[in-house]
Amino acid sequence: MKKIFNTIILTLTLAALFLTACGSAPTSSDNTLRVLASTTFLADITQNIAGDRIKVESLLPVGADPHSYQAAPLDVAKIAKSNLLILNGLEYESFIKSLLDAQRAGSEKLTIEATAGISPRKEAGNEHGVDPHMWLDPNLVITYVGNIRDGLIKIDPGGSETYTANADAYIAQLKELDTWIVGQVNTIPADRRLLITNHEALGYFAERYGFEVAGSVIPGFSSNAAPSAREMARLIDAVKKINAPAIFLDTADNNMLAQQIADETSVTIVSDLHLESLTDGAPAATYLDMMKYNVSRIVESLK
Ligand SMILES: [Zn+2]
Repeated sequence: MKKIFNTIILTLTLAALFLTACGSAPTSSDNTLRVLASTTFLADITQNIAGDRIKVESLLPVGADPHSYQAAPLDVAKIAKSNLLILNGLEYESFIKSLLDAQRAGSEKLTIEATAGISPRKEAGNEHGVDPHMWLDPNLVITYVGNIRDGLIKIDPGGSETYTANADAYIAQLKELDTWIVGQVNTIPADRRLLITNHEALGYFAERYGFEVAGSVIPGFSSNAAPSAREMARLIDAVKKINAPAIFLDTADNNMLAQQIADETSVTIVSDLHLESLTDGAPAATYLDMMKYNVSRIVESLK
């Protein structure tokens, strides 16, 4: 019922904004450029490139799961006011399509997808299912940085030098992070480099750092689904067979199903990863901190 009510409010707000926005550019009266990223880790990456020239905002609040997020009326206004909108892409922001469709007329906003140019992992047996979780491999984030830098230069050509220098400095930090992760993963015995997750979020991470993804509680690339009884039984068998040490969940995930698996096996549940959102302060206040924290938790649990 609440969802229907929210949808009605959202539709009315969209209609009102559409009427007021027609024919006017989204620039604010003080000519300040506004950059909006869909979610917290993208806002942080973007802020590192924007530096002091532009304040970057995140549409989703800290802790929100983009897979299941329901757009709020205030989001429409935030998008309408932004000059540059940065998305992850690959259907990660499924909530945003209706908001963008409603605004197309009269808006001069630039929208970029940070993952543009990277070819995605595909879901087995489903040609339409693509894996959006590329940010969990810092090497792929180097492409994000290039796309975001180019977007910033388009809306603010005068900042070109700053954005290029900031992007280069941040890429150096991403490479350092990558080297650090390789060193950490090397401390895990090779036969224990096994990942079981809530949904299939760590595929790119696993590919890069030599883990085997042994299964996920929820099949597929979104937390927005549920496993069948048969899929659960199959996963319990797999966990027993390979003697998987741990199941890794995001702090926002419901751990009820993972608990069912733990009840029947000797697997440990690690339920405090931050895969889809930063935190307000430690331990994942920035993208770089988020990655270090997650890797530390994974390494501690598998060593
Ligand atoms: Zn996810």
